[in-house]
Amino acid sequence: MTLRKIAHIGHPVLRQTARTLTRDELAQPETQRFIDDLIETMRDAHGAGLAAPQVYASVMICAIEVRDNPRYPYKPEVPLTVLVNPVLELLTDERFDNYEGCLSVPNLRGVVARATEVRVRAWDRHGQDIDTVVKGLTAGTYQHEVDHLYGKLFVDRVTNPATFTTWSEFELHHKADFVARARALVARYGS
Ligand code: ZN
Repeated sequence: MTLRKIAHIGHPVLRQTARTLTRDELAQPETQRFIDDLIETMRDAHGAGLAAPQVYASVMICAIEVRDNPRYPYKPEVPLTVLVNPVLELLTDERFDNYEGCLSVPNLRGVVARATEVRVRAWDRHGQDIDTVVKGLTAGTYQHEVDHLYGKLFVDRVTNPATFTTWSEFELHHKADFVARARALVARYGS
């Protein structure tokens, strides 16, 4: 496996709508190797997720995994999930103010209102259908990753730019309040 370089905000690849894959393309050894690299790069960078455009590949693949994450210690665990050609449907008008960060937007966080319940339809890395409902804080992670496949970054969705903060100022001034709200959400949904 190879660690891939991560694209930063300003690079056009992050602004393209990624190309959907056929099941044949997905089954190719090079695509499977690419998915291994994506997972390895996500884990190495301590991301909660990583989308293919973030490693300069404009294809509809993203990975999500949360396990003892030092960047997001309050996030509930999410088993490794690979989504291919995902489509999200927001299932509720309820929103949660999620303080997000992104490996492609170094040293910045901001508040994004995310739906607390989404339905995701996709394939897994073997082309098997996924059709599931994701709730709570984890629903925010899914929305963030799938946004990448449509050329969107979390900064586009920050409605109040006054919430932007560096990671160290987040720790000092915003973390305690946010973690309390995040924990309440996780307690309610179990995810
Ligand atoms: Zn991101």
